[in-house]
Amino acid sequence: MSAHAPAGLARTEMVCPKTIAEACAVLAQAHRDKRAASLLAGGTDVIVDRHLMPIEKARPLDLVVDLTGVDELTAISERDVAGERHLVFGGGVTYWQLRTDRRVLAAIPMLDAMAKDVGAVQIQTRGTLAGNIATASPAADGVPALMALDGVVKLVSEGGARTVPLDQFFLAYRKTVLAAGELIAEIDVRVPLPGARVTWRKVGTRLAQAISKVALAGVIEEERGTITRARFGVASVAAVTHPLGGVRALAEGKTFKALDRATVDAAIDLEIKPIDDVRSTGAYRLHVAKALVWRALAP
Ligand SMILES: Cc1cc2nc3c(=O)[nH]c(=O)nc-3n(C[C@H](O)[C@H](O)[C@H](O)COP(=O)(O)OP(=O)(O)OC[C@H]3O[C@@H](n4cnc5c(N)ncnc54)[C@H](O)[C@@H]3O)c2cc1C
Repeated sequence: MSAHAPAGLARTEMVCPKTIAEACAVLAQAHRDKRAASLLAGGTDVIVDRHLMPIEKARPLDLVVDLTGVDELTAISERDVAGERHLVFGGGVTYWQLRTDRRVLAAIPMLDAMAKDVGAVQIQTRGTLAGNIATASPAADGVPALMALDGVVKLVSEGGARTVPLDQFFLAYRKTVLAAGELIAEIDVRVPLPGARVTWRKVGTRLAQAISKVALAGVIEEERGTITRARFGVASVAAVTHPLGGVRALAEGKTFKALDRATVDAAIDLEIKPIDDVRSTGAYRLHVAKALVWRALAP
């Protein structure tokens, strides 16, 4: 790279593997050689971060592993899990793929709605699901949507593979369980049953090109009026995207009529403590999050 490269990248080597196995082998060798390595997918987070970083703060990178030539990572497939339909997204699937894949549009239109809200078309065609997850921004849009769909990530390294539910992937602000040498190969999501109430709401300063003040994804399923499944992902209200497990526990097994708004609000109070920042106040975020959850639950 040239001396005019973004901070810390002037002497960085770039490799372009063609398969997940090759990428993992490169990462493992870099780890053994104690070389600082980073994955690169769409570059819409990692390159921007480097450009904005003051040069004295930038950790030099020895190696960038460019995943854009790994075709396996861009696949969208289907699988049956215990009689239920799942879609499986390669880590390199872009927002634009979500907006244009017929299976996704028919099975989970909420993902199209979410993807439309991400940046503009330029970002949607470059940005990937794995990049959104690995960046671990509490304001990510892909993460809450995938979380509400019971997303499970498959992490692959030279040593093998493991799966982690998305609601256990984030440890703290921008800290995840992703280990050195691992990459996100797949994200598996459960397709909501026909008739499910599936919600996506992003509240920001503008309708487009906004970072959320609050974003909520929800999947509510009922059988004969009783809520059998209540799943959420809520962004920009905590250090990590939150699954609102307390609301889930409260709602499942009850009819909507048996739910009391004050009790649901109290459960939300226990789970999230939104902060004030340049985009909003904590009080506004909490108010909006409660309203969105209630609307998501309501028939
Ligand atoms: C103008 C602009 C608008 C934006 N708007 C939004 C928005 O509305 N909503 C939103 O959520 N985001 C937004 N973003 C942020 C960004 O576009 C998304 O987070 C995007 O999904 C990042 O994906 P990427 O492929 O570009 O990741 P990259 O920048 O390539 O990588 C991001 C991180 O993920 C890691 N990574 C990449 N692939 C893998 C993998 N397979 N396994 C493990 N780690 C991996 C990289 O090493 C890096 O740490 C915006 C960004 C810009 C510049």
